[in-house]
Amino acid sequence: MILTKDQFKKDFVKKMMKLYAQDVENSTTHMQYFTLGYLLKEYISEGWAKTTSRYKKYGEKQVYYFSIEFLLGRLLASNLLNLGIRETAKEALAEMGIRLTDIEDVEVDAGLGNGGLGRLAACFMDSMASSGIPGNGNGIRYKYGLFQQKIVDGYQVELPENWLRDDNVWEVRKSDKAVRVRFYGDAWMKPLENGSLAPIHTGYQEVLAVPYDTALVGYENKTVNTLRLWNAEVPPYEGEIQEDLNFNNVLKNKREIESITEVLYPDDSNHEGRVLRLKQEYFFVSAGLQSIVQQHKEAGHPMSTLHDLVAVHINDTHPAVAIPELMRILMDEEGLEWDEAWHITQNTMSYTNHTIMSEALEKWPVELFKDLLPRIYLIVEEIDRRFRQILVNKFQGNGDMVEKLAIISGGYVRMAHLCIHGTHSVNGVAKLHTEILKTQELRDFYMLYPYKFNNKTNGITHRRWLMLANPELTSLLDETIGDSWRRNPQDLKLFKKYKRDAEVQRRVEETKLHNKERLAAYIKEKNNIIVDPNSIFDVHVKRLHAYKRQLLNALHILHQYHEILENPNFDMLPKTYIFAAKAAPGYYYAKEIIKFINALADQVNNDPRVKGRIKMVFLENYGVSLAEKIIPASEVSEQISTTTKEASGTSNMKFMMNGAITLATLDGANVEILEEVGNPNIVIFGMTEKEVLDYYRSGNYVSRDFYNTDPRIKRVLDSLTNGMIKGISVEGRDIFKSLIDYNDEFFVLKDFDSYLNAHVKIEDLYKDRFTWNKMSIENISSSGVFSSDVTVMQYASGIWDTRMIER
Ligand SMILES: *Cc1c(COP(=O)(O)O)cnc(C)c1O
Repeated sequence: MILTKDQFKKDFVKKMMKLYAQDVENSTTHMQYFTLGYLLKEYISEGWAKTTSRYKKYGEKQVYYFSIEFLLGRLLASNLLNLGIRETAKEALAEMGIRLTDIEDVEVDAGLGNGGLGRLAACFMDSMASSGIPGNGNGIRYKYGLFQQKIVDGYQVELPENWLRDDNVWEVRKSDKAVRVRFYGDAWMKPLENGSLAPIHTGYQEVLAVPYDTALVGYENKTVNTLRLWNAEVPPYEGEIQEDLNFNNVLKNKREIESITEVLYPDDSNHEGRVLRLKQEYFFVSAGLQSIVQQHKEAGHPMSTLHDLVAVHINDTHPAVAIPELMRILMDEEGLEWDEAWHITQNTMSYTNHTIMSEALEKWPVELFKDLLPRIYLIVEEIDRRFRQILVNKFQGNGDMVEKLAIISGGYVRMAHLCIHGTHSVNGVAKLHTEILKTQELRDFYMLYPYKFNNKTNGITHRRWLMLANPELTSLLDETIGDSWRRNPQDLKLFKKYKRDAEVQRRVEETKLHNKERLAAYIKEKNNIIVDPNSIFDVHVKRLHAYKRQLLNALHILHQYHEILENPNFDMLPKTYIFAAKAAPGYYYAKEIIKFINALADQVNNDPRVKGRIKMVFLENYGVSLAEKIIPASEVSEQISTTTKEASGTSNMKFMMNGAITLATLDGANVEILEEVGNPNIVIFGMTEKEVLDYYRSGNYVSRDFYNTDPRIKRVLDSLTNGMIKGISVEGRDIFKSLIDYNDEFFVLKDFDSYLNAHVKIEDLYKDRFTWNKMSIENISSSGVFSSDVTVMQYASGIWDTRMIER
């Protein structure tokens, strides 16, 4: 939008007066935040309304991204940026004596997600709007986002994240768009006189779903899409009030209903088998589909064209009930026959698989499912019955195959199977992951439906992760290669020609140093640890999970500590190892690793013999805003998951885009990062996919052999249990047991040697400043393909069949 500084100042002063009866001179930062937020919302609203009517007028195909998580982070800076008024606002505010970044820091993160999956949904929202794709989000308005993490005496403590305590300036409650969602009761098919069957559902509990809409502002392109998050409420009481209405029961019912959207489940890699979780899934899916179908009808379109005008994307299996729910709406409410409803449903829906880890694969006990969603269960049963017929024909009576692929089997409803059968597209999130799906995990499904399988490598929005997070690098890019990369991130390639340019190298290094200084100040403030901005910042930030192997990193640091103790003059470049990670509250082992990292940090940081060669920092409460501070200050990006376990990873892309060197296993999108940046510009170590799979097949991995034959491993592991590190008598023993007695499920010991060598290589490269800076520039300039702008374009043309406009 076009806005002068004077106009902005006028608007700001007026808005402040209106909201708080207050002059700007005497206002608090808190007031300034809400003033700016509400002002921005006004600026956005015109474009929002225009986009909606433009979509209506031209009948553009709409994408609805269904996701149980949207990890948005803060929106103020990103809305200012995308409106194209951040510089104007910044300067105008400065003239009034206000620092924009101070205001931005007031905003609470919208933490409605656990990690990568939720953040992907948020990046896609930004990229769809910025690419002019008519793309909307559909999810849950959790009252409490992902827990706030405190570290107390080295242990993780979880506190509720009450992000809605103050106003959420970005949302708009749309009471008139509320719909009703039904749970429980009895459902059956009633024979009619004409011989057909009519679905009956009685005795249900009804929940009111009220939408809260948030604008998704495209980057300087007049597009404003919508993220619709649903809130569960008690429907207004209708009909006669019964004499025996019991107030306690009314309250109980209210609490039960409101609990549906109360809290986000804090686990990102384990299937949550509780009924409340299935309630959440059906709740937002049913509400979303009802409102989509309603809009379709209001626009005057016949049901038979739904899939021509609507694409519904299922982000992992959590929204899988969208398939039977759309069938229910089309048949029970719109009167379509099964075959036509099925055709529309399959062609409307597409599905992304995010994991191959069996503990994360969602399956629901039939009894639980049937009890909560009786009508939906009948439909799933019929989908399964018909699917089994297809399987019988295909596999010529091979009953094992039928049972193996069926949707309902062994007393469970298998959500991934429902998704593969009920959609027209199944995609993995990185090449390796998709290959593993096709050749291993979903091999039989691939044989059945080869045309459904495709790859869409994840991406990240370069606006948040480069333009907002790293303004100094952004300016350097603008100065050297112009600003076309902002709209067209693949133009970052143009930066490659400066890789040997001494002055540009110096600027890249200086930018990194400034970012490191800022992070060092933050670390001093939060952890009271002094770190040297001239040391190597080696960073491992992501959810805490055994497969992500934060333990391998910590064991390597412990190894270096031993080396120093053994040889007081041990020669190494000073290193600052930075960790940040939340563990699922019920994931005991992950929490033990957090304690271990913190205990080791205490020990190493305070041992005078280390003489500043190692500093170790665990920053609490990892989330989007913290990631934005850490990543631009990073030099080594630790992406060390057990090969085959990380479907894609996305922080690997954020680090690369900010010039960090990736230290990685050949897992997930690390493979594509290697492909893009080339072998000399990344440090790869560890097992190959084949080695991992061979161990699985042969079962002959013996972790104890590594303990017995490698004295470095023995020394490190023994020091977990011999009292050398204070405060980990329980944790040290448990970690030792998992690595030796339980045979090291994630091959930490197998990769230990290779990981040590990789660190030596990193040091050698770092010593040569020319080489390191050149590598850094190669990484930045090769990162454009990992912009989610590129990814959503591939979804749009390859899966959703939507047009891009206003690009
Ligand atoms: C990008 C991101 C993730 C995903 O990190 P991975 O290393 O890919 O697992 C998780 N949490 C936050 C806050 C992120 O920004």
